[in-house]
Amino acid sequence: MILDCAIIGGGPAGLTAGLYTTRGGLENVVMFEKGMPGGQITNSSEIENYPGVTGEITGMDLMMPWPDQCKKFGLVHEMVAVERVSKDGELFTIHKENGDTVNAHSVIIATGSSPKRAGFKGEEEFFGRGVSTCATCDGFFYKGKEVVVIGGGDTALEEALYLAKLCTKVYLVHRRDKFRSAPNTIKRVEDAQNIEIILNSAPEEVYGDAMGVNGIIIKDNNNNTRDIQVPGVFIFVGYNVNNNTLKQPDGSYLCDLNEAGEVIVDLNMKTSTDGLFAAGDMRINAPKQVVCAAGDGAVAALQAISYVDEKLN
Ligand code: FAD
Ligand code: NAP
Repeated sequence: MILDCAIIGGGPAGLTAGLYTTRGGLENVVMFEKGMPGGQITNSSEIENYPGVTGEITGMDLMMPWPDQCKKFGLVHEMVAVERVSKDGELFTIHKENGDTVNAHSVIIATGSSPKRAGFKGEEEFFGRGVSTCATCDGFFYKGKEVVVIGGGDTALEEALYLAKLCTKVYLVHRRDKFRSAPNTIKRVEDAQNIEIILNSAPEEVYGDAMGVNGIIIKDNNNNTRDIQVPGVFIFVGYNVNNNTLKQPDGSYLCDLNEAGEVIVDLNMKTSTDGLFAAGDMRINAPKQVVCAAGDGAVAALQAISYVDEKLN
């Protein structure tokens, strides 16, 4: 059997692509998701910026009904990691980690991105309970409180500015003596009244209790430590795009990526390879929000439907 469409990844982008492809008439659509569907938002203790969803709701609560909705229209979820996607002539081949393969006329790749971890003590233990990688999502929980931001790139500085509007004080901790950010952004950070810049310092340990984070110990280049008592620690030390499935045995990629490894798409989520679409956090200029990933999934699905219709009819 040849699939009309193979969807790789079952986060908000992949699930929405699954809903739209099946409901839009494609048959034999399989979503390959290595874990439970839902994506990285299921790690979030609270989401309050998904339109129309009010009240206190966890990321898991938000995503729970999505797979059932897709299943109703015929989407099949196969719980397996995809190792690689290749294209030979007109057909794609999905190489699964268990050694099996399946062919597809079109592919929507939606494997997301993973915020990098800084690698200090307590980071994993308190992740989602005071340690966060998303200021847009979790910043509001620290309104009127103090927070620490770790990192020295554009993301860390821009998110520190965002948090400074909500929080009484932001401690911006960077491991070197210089930021790697746009000069204008650096100036805005330096000018902000409630951002304390702490250079040449790295996180040692975040600590807390069953309720969450109570503070963080940082250490400077001279081995002096400082204990900053805050309920929130935001880590922005870069992102890893989950693009491994696009990598071919000869080291090339199935479609064009930018320098950061993000998939280059046009406004229709089309990649440089015919029949291959990308959606969500892994594509260029992704706002890294659930609502945007879902929107991408819908766009990619509508394009996949047109592509398959044209090819087969
Ligand atoms: P993902 O959600 O990353 O989903 C990708 C999926 O692909 C995953 O399920 C993964 O298991 C699967 N996958 C990866 N590789 C493979 C493979 N090789 N084979 C099979 N499956 C694979 N956004 C908001 O809008 N509001 C918030 O409040 C918010 N809070 C957040 C809190 C946290 C802690 C985090 C980490 C993120 C938050 N975000 C929030 C961002 C949001 O989660 C992402 O923008 C969104 O999940 C991106 O969706 P996606 O489908 O592109 O990718
Ligand atoms: P980034 O540019 O890779 O910066 C990551 C930062 O985290 C660096 O300052 C790095 O320190 C620090 N870091 C890395 N690992 C660390 C660790 N283990 N412990 C402590 N600090 C650590 O990542 P980014 O800021 O997410 O940006 C990614 C890309 O997107 C960049 O190209 C950026 O320019 C772009 N971006 C652009 C905009 C914009 O144009 N407005 C906005 C956001 C992002 P070092 O400096 O010492 O390496």
